[in-house]
Amino acid sequence: MKSFNIAVLPGDGIGTEITPPAVELVKEAARQCCVSLNFEILEAGAQLYLDTGEGFPEENFEYAANADAIYLAAMGLPDIRYPDGTEVGPQHDLRRRLNLYAGVRPCRTMPNLPLPLVDQRSKDLDFVIVRESTEGIFAEPRSHQLDTEEAAHNLIRVTKETSTKLFDFSFRLAQRRKLLGKPGLVTCSDKANVLSSQFFFRNVYYQVAKKYPDIVAEHQYVDATALDLVRCPWRYDVIPTENQFGDILSDIAAALMGGMGMSSSGEIGDNNAVFQPCHGSAPDIMGQGKANPTGMILSGAIMLDYLGDKFESPELIKASQLLESAVSSAYRHGNLQPYELGGTSGTFAISDAVGKQLTR
Ligand code: ATP
Repeated sequence: MKSFNIAVLPGDGIGTEITPPAVELVKEAARQCCVSLNFEILEAGAQLYLDTGEGFPEENFEYAANADAIYLAAMGLPDIRYPDGTEVGPQHDLRRRLNLYAGVRPCRTMPNLPLPLVDQRSKDLDFVIVRESTEGIFAEPRSHQLDTEEAAHNLIRVTKETSTKLFDFSFRLAQRRKLLGKPGLVTCSDKANVLSSQFFFRNVYYQVAKKYPDIVAEHQYVDATALDLVRCPWRYDVIPTENQFGDILSDIAAALMGGMGMSSSGEIGDNNAVFQPCHGSAPDIMGQGKANPTGMILSGAIMLDYLGDKFESPELIKASQLLESAVSSAYRHGNLQPYELGGTSGTFAISDAVGKQLTR
């Protein structure tokens, strides 16, 4: 039996509640496909910083960096801050230190949910935003040498190396999705008409596109993407974009799925990858059993697919598909309405329904 090591970071708030059932479901999906996953639970987060003065102990970071994948729930609590006033969020250090440039944010709607758009085509969405996660406007988030008492600046950085990797990743993703019947379309979402760094980004995009003649490459200004994500989101397949644009567009995508708790992600680099739901620690609902584990479970499915692709293991790709189908079937047959959509299905009800579909 093939075996992989997964570093698990439950973190803070609802992160500690959604992690145990999600880990069990990922483990079960892998077991059914004859793959063994070893999960190592590691401490990190804002509460740990408050208790010990350290948000992410170096030995835990080292373990995570050497694992085959990192499964992270949520970190940060609004009242726990560094001396400079910013929130304690060791997950950002992880992204930066491991150079996780491709932020994969799938938008896949689940059946039977009261979703915000009325058009029936919005009930069956399946596209992926690929957010560049190490550069752009977030490259230099804290102060700049030009800063004075009167003005503050941030620097946008876009490099050819990272942009090339981002677009290669996006075109490869479109190719893999095309094999599963998707249209094979990549839409670069940028602001090339206003920012020279975005004009540069677009030029790199079309250079990379030449390597993938089987995939249709188009571009769009980011404001038009925001419009179309509400007007006709079914038109998309894979959307690579700058860091902050991706941050905002993926929240629109989360709304199309019904809420933050539905939204999954993978942060992928050349040697490491972190899989986590897109929401935060949600302290307002912690300890009440109301947290929606769907995004965490689906992030586990992306992790299985990543491992399967990276280690050429069709068993793991099968396990990913099994888990994703179990989530979809749970929503189709399980009468689930998460709290954040106005229902009463909490962490247990949702993970239990997915488990039942998985072991049927
Ligand atoms: P951050 O500031 O890091 O984004 P946050 O938890 O304050 O973290 P969001 O994750 O954006 O912010 O969540 C906003 C609100 O949405 C939460 O306060 C909570 O009420 C709700 N929410 C988020 N995730 C979930 C979830 N998994 N299940 C149920 N409700 C959620």
